[in-house]
Amino acid sequence: MKKIDILDLSPKELEDLVSGLGERPYRVSQLARWIYKKNIRSFEEMTDLSKGFRSTLKDVARLSSIRLRREQTSRDGTKKFLFELEDGSRIESVLIPDAHRLTLCISTQVGCLMGCAFCLTARLRRIRNLRPGEIVDQFLAVRELSPYGVTNIVFMGMGEPLDNFESTVKAIEILTHPGYVGMSPRRVTVSTSGLVPEIAELGERAPVNLSISLNASNDRLRSRLMPVNNKYPLKTLIEAGASYPLSGRGKLTFEYVLIKDVNDAKSNAVELVGLLRGIRCMVNLIPYNEAPPLEYQTPERDRALQFQKVLIDGGIRAMIRKSRGRDILGACGQLVADYPLEETDARSGAQPSAVAALPS
Ligand code: SF4
Repeated sequence: MKKIDILDLSPKELEDLVSGLGERPYRVSQLARWIYKKNIRSFEEMTDLSKGFRSTLKDVARLSSIRLRREQTSRDGTKKFLFELEDGSRIESVLIPDAHRLTLCISTQVGCLMGCAFCLTARLRRIRNLRPGEIVDQFLAVRELSPYGVTNIVFMGMGEPLDNFESTVKAIEILTHPGYVGMSPRRVTVSTSGLVPEIAELGERAPVNLSISLNASNDRLRSRLMPVNNKYPLKTLIEAGASYPLSGRGKLTFEYVLIKDVNDAKSNAVELVGLLRGIRCMVNLIPYNEAPPLEYQTPERDRALQFQKVLIDGGIRAMIRKSRGRDILGACGQLVADYPLEETDARSGAQPSAVAALPS
């Protein structure tokens, strides 16, 4: 019989498992504490569980673990972790220190199907989805490795989180449940390239902060940079963002990667003001991280400042974000987890065409 990996279970599923094994409800919080607060992976070590229950658990369940293969530290303090999964697949997570935060950027897929033209991860295409446990375990592993822990989580690593929807939702439930990891939903952000139906569903099932990766100010340009735009154009996407339920201090952010001579003109900024006027949001401007063999370039600083000024003058909150972890290829769009790009290009075709295969 195939054993159940407890790390893949949502809080409700773990309750069902424990009651199905004839145990009292308080056993659920005991188990969750060992796994998610103490990071223990052996039932034997869970000494407040009865011997009988531990033995039953060993028969029917297991606790998987991702393995750290490499840790790199950038000149700016950003750390990149390469993890190997049970089947030998590899993923990366990035820990970004800031004045008051330690933000962990986690992956949800091995590779990505979305085919964004400026992104190295897209070159891998989607090798496979991560299981919920593999998503949460990135957090558990890095929390152990980081002397000051992790204060925030962004689903912005390898993959499109909403293209692995069920695993992403379960991972959020585990990460934000007070008896499990216990992270405040206000400290968790899901970033999407723009899967509109899943944005609405996320708002219903696991309403954390939402970040939409926009990167263009009109449909023609966005469809060129992000094939998902052919299916969900800007107007529909921005409406989905504006209707996303944000509670209290929840945040809606639009990410805009500024690429030299592609989307960084004053006219693009003016168009963007027109698109976002009246929406309570923040725009993060991210100067492009050059990622050979892709040929896109970082814009001049003045150009980024001019773009920001147009947005602010138009009444839109806008910040220029510093690129972090560039020297270790840990910045946005640079994660490839040691997969040789030449090989994956040959396997998948030089320019991935994601649209036909996008989830419907
Ligand atoms: S930018 Fe994000 S959504 Fe687009 S291909 Fe890269 S990982 Fe996927």
